Amino acid sequence: MSAFVQKVNHMKSVLKCWLPAVFVAAAAALTMVSVAADTTPTPTKRLAIVAIGDVPAKLADHAREWAEQNLAIKVDLLPAEKTSGKNLDDIAAQAVKAGGANHPHVIAIALPPEGVNNHGMRTADGRAAVVNLRPMQADKPDEETLSRRIERQTIRAMALLLDVGTCPNPQCALSRYSTLQELDQAGRNCCPPCLQKFQENAAKELLEPNKTSHFYLRRK
Ligand SMILES: [Zn+2]
Repeated sequence: MSAFVQKVNHMKSVLKCWLPAVFVAAAAALTMVSVAADTTPTPTKRLAIVAIGDVPAKLADHAREWAEQNLAIKVDLLPAEKTSGKNLDDIAAQAVKAGGANHPHVIAIALPPEGVNNHGMRTADGRAAVVNLRPMQADKPDEETLSRRIERQTIRAMALLLDVGTCPNPQCALSRYSTLQELDQAGRNCCPPCLQKFQENAAKELLEPNKTSHFYLRRK
């Protein structure tokens, strides 16, 4: 075999060895580009509601549906707990325990013992908030008025947990109120700026949105 033929054969064998490696490397680089292009993390967590104490199931279920539609966020309803703690702090602790790892924020709709009349509370770490049913039914409202009060209070509790504060717009569910009458006159859902802030904060926390809701603002 001449030196030339030997050299050509050597080059052929080098190419045989290297060409597949080059293709594999190119394919790997393309995969990396396509992975790098989609850096949005998948939302894996959800808000949750738990009814604690003698709370009508219908009331908690409606509050869940209302929040899921009007805040455009997925909300789980956890199994109800019939026995309520003796105050709102105890109830908040029950809610945190019920929530588990996939529910970073839990809203308790609760009926505490008589004499506990604060409208609600939020834990300092933002893990749980309590909506107190007792003062909401103190004036014996009809079923629809009570249900609407719980809608607003649930939305307020969720906003509070996601660091969306009170709102100066009286048409917004996050407006301040002092009396039940003022609460009844407030809007039943959030104004656009509050909704925007809520959904931005929810996305940062990887909370799963309800993309089928008309109130979902983050469509591309
Ligand atoms: Zn607002």
